[in-house]
Order: sequence, then structure tokens, then C-alpha cells
Amino acid sequence: MRISYYNGQYMNHEEMSIKSGDRAFYFGDGVYEVIRIYDGNFFTFDEHVDRLLQSAEEILIRDVNRAEVVEILHEIKDRNVILNGALYIQVSRGIAPRDHGFPHLTKPVIYASIREAKRPLSLMNSGVEAVTAEDYRWLKCHVKSLNLLANVMEKQHAVEQGAKETILHRDGVVTEGSSTNIFMVKNEVLFTHPANNLILNGITRRVVLGLAEEYDIAVREEGFTVSDMSEADEVFYTSTTQEIIPVVKVDGRSVGDGKPGRVTQQLQEYFNKKITLLNSVK
Ligand code: PMP
Repeated sequence: MRISYYNGQYMNHEEMSIKSGDRAFYFGDGVYEVIRIYDGNFFTFDEHVDRLLQSAEEILIRDVNRAEVVEILHEIKDRNVILNGALYIQVSRGIAPRDHGFPHLTKPVIYASIREAKRPLSLMNSGVEAVTAEDYRWLKCHVKSLNLLANVMEKQHAVEQGAKETILHRDGVVTEGSSTNIFMVKNEVLFTHPANNLILNGITRRVVLGLAEEYDIAVREEGFTVSDMSEADEVFYTSTTQEIIPVVKVDGRSVGDGKPGRVTQQLQEYFNKKITLLNSVK
């Protein structure tokens, strides 16, 4: 049986009911995280918990208890028999009659569930196509907000064109993907947008930047344009569930020679090593 958690209780996922006054339901008023589990072990656990609390703080949800969050995450992992999965946790502002302004005394409500998630090995090898679109989201993209309407619309834009991701840009400067961070390689240098309010500072992004440093790959955290990207040697995107995915076509035009690039493949290999190491430690 799949066990999930909502508002103080662990229960059968299929029979779970959500309180209608939950502000997550009306307003998407909350924050969330997705954490990877490889072979029964959490990957970058503390980083995800830190970011969840930071996101909550940013939207003035102040009384989230870290120990409680950690306990729920472990319980959900342990009560379900999923070795390779993605653990989802959200914290909503709480339960109250519908009103935009929020009564500060509302207690945050936590929901958590786990699902099986295989590594996307075939996409990691073959690469994917992406399209570009104007980034019309709000100006607090560093908050991992439950309110994903713009991201959902932007992703659908790719789906409708048979592509896997929409690469967003503000006035031509690439920010990130609809649910990923975007990197390009030009003349052996790895470029990605700086971690400011215009992107989510992805945990996988941080792992990749750490690997680049460890293996002496030059990095520039600065904005690049859609036009720069059209002349890149390599493009790839990163996320917790997708890891490192080469982008071989953007808006129908090949990136580099149209195949996953060398630096991208090296980073995939280093990332792989990190996962293997994680699982050999336990
Ligand atoms: N940007 C956005 C908008 C995202 O939704 C995600 C994935 N949640 C990412 C970047 C990648 O972040 P992470 O590596 O932490 O999964």
C-alpha cells in the first residue's frame, strides 16, 4: 500500500482527502520540494530541506519545524517500498476560509508522498529537443512556489511542438527551463544564468557547478542570449528527476553537431560517480 502524509496523518494514498480550506487548493499558496532517492538513499537531502525552509520564509510562512519536516521525509521513505523514487513534499500556508489576505495564526499544512522514478537513461543518452519562449513569470522565481501556472503553460508550449522542454528568456536573455536549469557550453566554458530572483537555484545546478569546479571545467555564471545559445557547442538542462539531459535541437535547429556534447557527457559521468559513491557509503 502506498502511504502518504497530510495534515498530521499518514494514510493510504488512494483514500486520502484534502481539506477544502487548504490555501494550497485555492491559491497555490505554499512551497514544495522534490527529493531523489537512489537505491533507498536520499540524494542531497539537506540542500532540499534548506531550500524548502528558505522558500517558506520568503513567502512569510515562518513556523515550519525543520525536525518535523525531516521526520516526515524519513517516515514516508521508510513506510513505502520504493528504492528509486522521487519524494514530494509541500508546505501550504494553512487551512482557513478563502480570503486573499492571510490570517497569520494559520498553522502550515504539510503534505508528502513518494512515487517510483527511474533514471531517464535513454534521454540522457540520446538528448532531447527544446523550444524557446518568453519568460512571463513573476519576479520571485527563486522561491519554489506551489503556484506553477506559468511553468505549466510554458511546458505545454513544448509538449504541443513535440519537444521536451521550453527554454525561457527575458528580453532574449535565457533564464531557465519551465522545470529545469539551462546550461550552454561555448569554447570549453560552461555558462548558466546567475542564481538571482529570476531563476530557481536548482540543487542539480549546484551539484553540476560543484563538479565543474572539481574537474576543472571553466564556469561563467552569467546571462547568455537565445542568439548566443544558437551558436553554442552544447546545451543541456538539469533537474532532480531528470539529472543532466543534453539538448540537441533548439527551435528545430541542431545544437553543435546535433549530438550530446563531450562536456555534457563528462558531467553526466561525474554525476553518475557521485550517485554510485552515495550508494556505496551506506
Ligand atoms: N527550475 C525550475 C523552474 C524548476 O521547477 C526546477 C525543478 N523543480 C529546476 C529549475 C531544477 O531544480 P532542481 O535541480 O532542484 O530539481
